[in-house]
Amino acid sequence: MFDIESVRSDFPILGIQANGRPLVYLDNAATMQMPLPVQQTMQYHYEQVNANVHRGTHYLSHESTKAYEEAREAVASFLHAPSTRNVVFSAGTTGAINMVALGLRDYVGPGDVVVSTVLEHHSNFVPWQQLCLECGAQFKVVGIDQNGNLNLDELRAAVCGGAKVVACTCCSNVLGTVTPIREVVSIAHQAGALCLLDAAQGIRHGVLDVQALDCDFLAFSGHKLGAPTGIGVLYGKMSALELLKPAWFGGEMVDIVTTERTTWEELPLRLEPGTPNYAGAIGLGAALEYLEFVGRKEAAEYEDELVAYAVKSLSHIDGMNVYGNPEHRSGCVSFNIDGVHPFDLCTLIDKMGVALRSGNACAQPLLNALGCTAVARLSPAFYNSFEEIDAAVSAISRGAQILRK
Ligand code: PLP
Repeated sequence: MFDIESVRSDFPILGIQANGRPLVYLDNAATMQMPLPVQQTMQYHYEQVNANVHRGTHYLSHESTKAYEEAREAVASFLHAPSTRNVVFSAGTTGAINMVALGLRDYVGPGDVVVSTVLEHHSNFVPWQQLCLECGAQFKVVGIDQNGNLNLDELRAAVCGGAKVVACTCCSNVLGTVTPIREVVSIAHQAGALCLLDAAQGIRHGVLDVQALDCDFLAFSGHKLGAPTGIGVLYGKMSALELLKPAWFGGEMVDIVTTERTTWEELPLRLEPGTPNYAGAIGLGAALEYLEFVGRKEAAEYEDELVAYAVKSLSHIDGMNVYGNPEHRSGCVSFNIDGVHPFDLCTLIDKMGVALRSGNACAQPLLNALGCTAVARLSPAFYNSFEEIDAAVSAISRGAQILRK
C-alpha cells in the first residue's frame, strides 16, 4: 500500500499556505517538488565535497568526480542502460533533444524525412522542424485520433519509403496520452529511422527500460521527478551517440587541441563540454534513489488513480470540456469551461491556494489540433491526495461560477 502520509513528510513545501490558504500543488507536470533527501544530499555535497569534476588531482576533486560518476551509474541503472557510457548529462530534456537534433546536422540531408507527432511539447518539435528547415529535409507530423491517441497508421504512412528520425513523446504533457512507444520504436526501425523518445513526462509515470524498448535516444529532465532544475539526461545507444557531431565546444570534451585541429574525448564526456552541472547530477542521483525507495511502479499507479479521479470529478462541473479520452492517461488532465478563460480561472483559484497551469503548455500544434489556444491543466504527483483533488475541483467549480457572473 502506498504510504502517502509518510511520503508527504518528505516534502515540507506541501504544508505551506499560498495566499493565506493551504497550498494544493497540482502543477507537477511543470515541476515536481524536491524531497528532503535530495535537498540534504546537495547540501552535504556543497558543505563537504564540492570541487570541479574530472579536472583536479586533489582530494575534493576526486570525491566530487566520484559522486558525479556515481550519479551517472544511478541513471544507467534506473533506465536499465547497458553502461554509464550511454548516459550523457544535459541541462534538461530540451538540452538533450537539441544535442541530438544539432548533432545529426550532417546525418539529415535534403529530401530526407524526419517525423514527429502533434502530441509533442515544443522541445521535441521545434528542434526537428528547424533541423529540417536548415537541411532541406521534410518534416512530417503524425496526428491523433478523436480520443487523443497517437495515430499509428499515420506514423506507418509517414515513414513509408524511409525516414531518418522519428521523435515521439512517451506521454503527452497536455492530454496525458501514454503513447505505444514499443510500437513506435519498431515502426521507426523498420523504416531505417533512429527513434528518440521524449520521456520528460513518461519518466515518472512508469518504468522505462531502454534496452527492452530498443530506442536509440531517450531524454528526460531531473526537475520532473524531484531533482533540481538545470539537469537532465540524454540516453543513447553507443552507435547512435557516435553519430552525434558535438554542437558545443570547450573544455573537457577534447582529447588533443592544436592550433590546426581538435580531437574529441571518448563518450559520454565528448558531449559534456565545460564544467558540468555536477551538483545537479548528484541531486538527480538522489532523486532516482528516492523514487526507487518510494516505489516507482506504485507511485505511477497511484498517480494514475489520482488522474482518473480528477477526470471523473471535473466532468460534473457545468460547461466542462475535458480534452481527450486516451486509452491510457497519465500525469495530467487538461480542460476548458464554457465561457471561462483558463488564465482567469487559474488566477482566481490561486487565491484559494490551488496551483494549476494555464496557457498553451508549450504545445501549440496540439492545441491547434484541439481547437483552442489555451487550457487549464491539473497534474498530480504521488504526494497528492484525493482530498486535494476534491479541494481543487471545488475551487474550479466555484471559480467558474464567479467568472461566469
Ligand atoms: N517534453 C515534455 C513532454 C515536457 O512536458 C517538457 C516540460 O514540460 C519538456 C519536454 C521540456 O522539459 P524541460 O523544460 O525540462 O527541458
